[in-house]
Amino acid sequence: MSIATLTDLADKAACPRVVVKIGSALLVGADGQPRRAWLSEMAGEIAAMRARGQQVVVVSSGAIALGAAKLGLEKGGRGSLPDAQAAASVGQIALAGLWSDLLGAHGLTAAQLLLTLEDLEDRRRYLNASSTIARLLDAGAVPVVNENDSVATEEIRFGDNDRLAARVAQAAGADAVLLLSDIDGLYDRHPSEDGAQRVPVVQGIDQRIRAMASSASSSGMGSGGMVSKLQAAEIAERAGIALAIINGTYERPIARALVEGTGTIFLPKRRDGARKAWLGGRMRLKGTLVVDAGCVAALRKGNSLLAAGVLSVEGKFSRGDAVSVCAEDGTPVANGLAEYDAAECTALCGTRREEQEAVLGYAPRPAVIHRDHMVLL
Ligand code: GLU
Repeated sequence: MSIATLTDLADKAACPRVVVKIGSALLVGADGQPRRAWLSEMAGEIAAMRARGQQVVVVSSGAIALGAAKLGLEKGGRGSLPDAQAAASVGQIALAGLWSDLLGAHGLTAAQLLLTLEDLEDRRRYLNASSTIARLLDAGAVPVVNENDSVATEEIRFGDNDRLAARVAQAAGADAVLLLSDIDGLYDRHPSEDGAQRVPVVQGIDQRIRAMASSASSSGMGSGGMVSKLQAAEIAERAGIALAIINGTYERPIARALVEGTGTIFLPKRRDGARKAWLGGRMRLKGTLVVDAGCVAALRKGNSLLAAGVLSVEGKFSRGDAVSVCAEDGTPVANGLAEYDAAECTALCGTRREEQEAVLGYAPRPAVIHRDHMVLL
């Protein structure tokens, strides 16, 4: 089942895993204090999503805004990079505590992840972030992600949590991203202009759609605005993930948007094609895993590649590099990101999980290539 409308995002079959991004202006009031009443309703909405069988990852801004208020920094802590970093250090503690309390009130366990751009762009670190998120979701926790603003310098920053949310969705293998904004969605012209119409569905972002986005962010607190939301939508689209912009300024905004269908949904490109482009795009295949017939059959059924089926390993590659998977007669079967380097793969050939710790000297990963990081050819 695929996602075609905003209301599909409430359906656990079409959308089992969702990223919800909450911006500073929704989280923090003009007085620099958290908007507790709104936030506790938001925690209720997250609990409701969980109760209907969806897994949720939260991307939460607000560290800089909360910290700036505590430290009494001007311009909301965004006057300079050192100010933003100091504010984020102070604010992030408060933010983590807040989410832990809010979700805890619904019997949910919050887990904090602070990421930089490099964590999601470097393939090796990407796999680490991805497997941590997967493990947390499996264990029933709600990952709460923010950028690691206190160490991220200008060059290695996302700067806005909209694009961070799209990248996190990719790493989390999520089906959709909900960006909570202060507006109902994308409008065909500046929303203050007469006759401005909301665009309910975008099927493919082009020049016409880009022209609709205005960079004006009304709150002045976050760093987003429609331009960064559109950039996030482009990342999601290419990754085969749906992205919706909905209005967070209402009570129970997720329920409102998904029941009434009020918002803008950017539909994803076909997932497999998108994943193939992402895997193939910037990478050269660094090696080959030759696998047996049983393994080929298992891969074609959608399973991860296990060491037991690997017959031999060619090439020099590191963890996170892209490798080709071939049948014994040389037929290419799949491409994917290797969870181990070439030497480890060689040592693991033909082993079962229970033998692997002795071979590696540490606890084995669930697969040699996880199915989420593989494209069948
Ligand atoms: N990471 C920033 C914070 O927590 C927010 C970035 C944004 O405004 O999107 O304050």
